[in-house]
Amino acid sequence: MTLERYAIGVDLGGTNLRIATYKEESTPNGMIADSIVLPTRVEDGPDAVADDMSGAIRKLLSKHGHGGNFAGLGIGTPGPLELPDGILRNPPNLPGFNGYNLRRAVELRVGVPAIIESDANLAALAEFRLGSGKTYGAQSLCMLTLGTGVGNGIILDGKVWNGHNGMGGEAGHNSVDPEGEPCPCGSRGCLELYASATGLKRMAKESRGSDANDSDESSILTARHIAESATAGDAAALAVFARVGTALGIGLGALVNTLNLPLYVIGGGVSAAWDLFAPQMTVELRMRSYVYRMNAPTEDDSRLRSPRKTHVVRAELGADAGLLGACLLPLMQGSSG
Ligand SMILES: [Zn+2]
Repeated sequence: MTLERYAIGVDLGGTNLRIATYKEESTPNGMIADSIVLPTRVEDGPDAVADDMSGAIRKLLSKHGHGGNFAGLGIGTPGPLELPDGILRNPPNLPGFNGYNLRRAVELRVGVPAIIESDANLAALAEFRLGSGKTYGAQSLCMLTLGTGVGNGIILDGKVWNGHNGMGGEAGHNSVDPEGEPCPCGSRGCLELYASATGLKRMAKESRGSDANDSDESSILTARHIAESATAGDAAALAVFARVGTALGIGLGALVNTLNLPLYVIGGGVSAAWDLFAPQMTVELRMRSYVYRMNAPTEDDSRLRSPRKTHVVRAELGADAGLLGACLLPLMQGSSG
């Protein structure tokens, strides 16, 4: 009997650290075999987080074996990242990690090679292999992950597009309004400021005006709450989602004109409000991109997933996408550890 190949994946987030194993043959539908979830001790510094991560990896390695059945270790972190070195560059949710070589820190601690990739790229990779990419039979896709920020991952001909320095796929910081809000990245009016959960909250606050008493209301002003208000017909909340749709349509228009891929995928927590922003997104995308207009699917094309058309769809995988992608990376690279 031959031992089944498995990979270990890590998802390093600002709140949680998740470490999991994935077996390609017995769990072809993207199931995590077993996982360890720890709080990310950001305040104790990057070495403490690397210690926690490495301890969990060693635990899984000793449980599942260290030999030829181990395909490798993939680690997903917030971007931007310097690749192939694996150095973190100013990750917004991980203060104190700027310049930290996470790949070397983990390799020294566990004694196996690690591959590092940005979490948004890994979510795109998982969506490509196990989600909508598989459903549509697409060889390439571009994914936007609408969470605290807007992540972006691009898969070209089956591979993550890293760009020259590992910093490709930062479309969340493409400007959709040149006179818009200042962004921490230094630009103005970035897509992330209008299509993230953070942006939703800011726009909802703005729309209630400065005279509104938001001292006790602000605590319940979550993205989900705004979506509930919009679904109930609240005009201000609906207007906020129209702005999300407009921003996404402009952002996607530039991506479609630039890349002309068969599939664009919208994921992340905010994508749950798809019905609230997608109509305006599609109107804006049609107006902004003649490449899209020439390849937009009819209802029949959408239903039949016509391969010749440009499809913009909601992600099929949920919050595990980044973790799954981290597991898939070593399996796809055929690394034997
Ligand atoms: Zn920006």
